[in-house]
Amino acid sequence: MTDTSLKTYGEDVFSEKAIRKYLTKPVAAKLIATMKEGKPLDPSIADAVAAGMQAWALEKGASHFTHWFQPMTGGTAEKHDAFLEPTGLAQAVNKFSGKNLIGGEADASSFPSGGLRSTFEARGYTAWDPTSPAFIKRHENGATLCIPTAFCAYTGAALDMKTPLLRSIQAVSRATERLMQKFGRRKAHVSITLGAEQEYFLVDREFYMKRPDLLQTGRTVFGAAPAKHQQLDDHYYGSIRPRILKFMTEVEDALWRLGIPAKTRHNEVAPAQFELAPMFEDINLAVDHNMMIMETLKRTAEANGLVCLLHEKPFDGVNGSGKHCNWSIAYGGKNLLSPGDNPRDNAIFLTFLSAIIRAIDLHADILRMTTAGAGNDRRLGANEAPPAIISIFLGDELSAVMHDIETGTSGRHTGRTTMKIGVDTMPPLPKDSTDRNRTSPFAFTGNKFEFRAPGASQNCAASQTVLNTIVAESIDAICDKLDARGGDFNEELQLLLQRLIRKHKRVLFSGDGYGSEWPKEAASRGLPNLHDTLEAIAPLDDPVNRALFSKYGVLTEGEMASRREIAAEDYRSRIVIEGKVSLEIARSMIRPVVAEEFSRLATAIGRAKRDGLKVGIRGLTALSLKLGAGLDDLHVKCEKMEKTIAKGEPRAILAAMDDLRKTVDKLEYLVDDTKWPLPKYREMLFIY
Ligand code: ADP
Ligand code: MG
Repeated sequence: MTDTSLKTYGEDVFSEKAIRKYLTKPVAAKLIATMKEGKPLDPSIADAVAAGMQAWALEKGASHFTHWFQPMTGGTAEKHDAFLEPTGLAQAVNKFSGKNLIGGEADASSFPSGGLRSTFEARGYTAWDPTSPAFIKRHENGATLCIPTAFCAYTGAALDMKTPLLRSIQAVSRATERLMQKFGRRKAHVSITLGAEQEYFLVDREFYMKRPDLLQTGRTVFGAAPAKHQQLDDHYYGSIRPRILKFMTEVEDALWRLGIPAKTRHNEVAPAQFELAPMFEDINLAVDHNMMIMETLKRTAEANGLVCLLHEKPFDGVNGSGKHCNWSIAYGGKNLLSPGDNPRDNAIFLTFLSAIIRAIDLHADILRMTTAGAGNDRRLGANEAPPAIISIFLGDELSAVMHDIETGTSGRHTGRTTMKIGVDTMPPLPKDSTDRNRTSPFAFTGNKFEFRAPGASQNCAASQTVLNTIVAESIDAICDKLDARGGDFNEELQLLLQRLIRKHKRVLFSGDGYGSEWPKEAASRGLPNLHDTLEAIAPLDDPVNRALFSKYGVLTEGEMASRREIAAEDYRSRIVIEGKVSLEIARSMIRPVVAEEFSRLATAIGRAKRDGLKVGIRGLTALSLKLGAGLDDLHVKCEKMEKTIAKGEPRAILAAMDDLRKTVDKLEYLVDDTKWPLPKYREMLFIY
């Protein structure tokens, strides 16, 4: 950070500093207590907060305000209202009241509701989330005050991603507090932390505009593999090209103004692929910030003649893009997933670890659900990506500790005969990255878990909501068991953890998650492997899952049903769009070029024969045969594609699309390079 960026860091956020400056002392204190400790907001301060917030926003040049929310579209939504309010003929004042701040009404009829909102009751409501600070979004001609909000139907049913997330934070916080009290800890603030690493591709805007598939679906439905792509591993962590670095610094500058702690930038594995990692934060804020990061990446790319692709698999044959969600729990500011240096802290650490292992084993299906989607389907299980089997990697040292606890005898690592909870300290765990297993979808990385399955375009609220909820359930189950016993706490805990590990260790896996043996082994262990979106969203209907989420007040049965419907519809729509785009490109862009070249050859062959040429006819004939066969193939596959699209079955469309692609990609190698209508992989993947 330069000195200037240090000065502008957080400048466009209604931060603690701004709050103290623009609000009176008692009002500021109340608002800050809500923001920092999640204390319920005193509604009587709304007007005072609104007045201060408006004064601040006007000084920043804002003319409008908007409630900013995250509907089930996967993106964010905003509806701007001017501060300006006419007071008479040609007269106006700026107005923004507590009512404007706290709640808003939005026409919900055009947002996905999955049946939660009947058409005659189209009203939706947005409600201020004071735990995520308001911020200023700038544009060329001014600025808008953005107020993070939740979004729900008039019945109170959640129509967004934030509402369930906030509910899940409460669930896991309560459970954590309960367990910590068993360890004799005083009540303290629980903070769930998230650091979401964002991967993305950049392509030159000129190429992008010439690819209807990229424009309409975010991925290339055709494109032959270039001779060189990522085989030489020369892009990962490579020196960043000046054009990209310019883009990255502009992104960082915009994010820093918004108080988003963008920390790390680097080239990723695939050519034209990059990553931005922020410092971890409180999970609700981190989720909002990730949405803002995605938007900033897109906007800044545009301003640089680039396009940022957040699709999980924009290019076949090279790595896809994920969003690694690093998750942990802190209690009174101390990370509970950091192994302690004394027996008591270790006991806490191991108990939470066991709770998480139990949660992932019992609820792998619903966690997998959160990574479903047409885009991520192409990534999960393919190439570099984590497979669709959810397993946990603990690392050698920690695995050995778990083994010690389970057997209660070995003590290989402690040098003792047993690993006694509450008595022994744990061996120090190495935190270096050599111990990483990058093929694991859910890996312990020293003091946090890294969930690697979520896709680059996905709102991380989904996976984090489920993770929080299933961990809350597991912690509560442990508390219940401890409550039911009366003996020595440490001994009871030891026995309990022993049993838990024995029962759930099948979810632990340290081997190669990308290997062909793993799916077979996982099947023999009884671990679910939900291959595509349709399989992955089915757990939303499972009565066990339904009961769990309503018990914790995170999602009602109706909300779960609606989420399944929305996911299924989104999936189907996307695949149909992809199918139609494929068909259109194949028919109206590829076929004419192939036909033209074929007929040119046919004419040339005819002329050569007529003129009695001795050479060339063989070559021309061979090529025309290949092109002719390709043309026939194209015809047959397009006809089939059309019929398949009409039936609307997503899996069949996908199969037809992949089949059509084979023909088109083969033709790409044959047709005159100067005539090929689509920018090629070798052009798009290397940015200059
Ligand atoms: P890696 O080698 O996987 O890149 P880093 O230590 O750089 O590991 O962390 C990656 C991400 O994890 C960053 O966003 C970082 O802020 C986040 N992270 C670190 N500690 C925690 C934590 N306790 N809770 C949540 N996220 C964390
Ligand atoms: Mg990474």
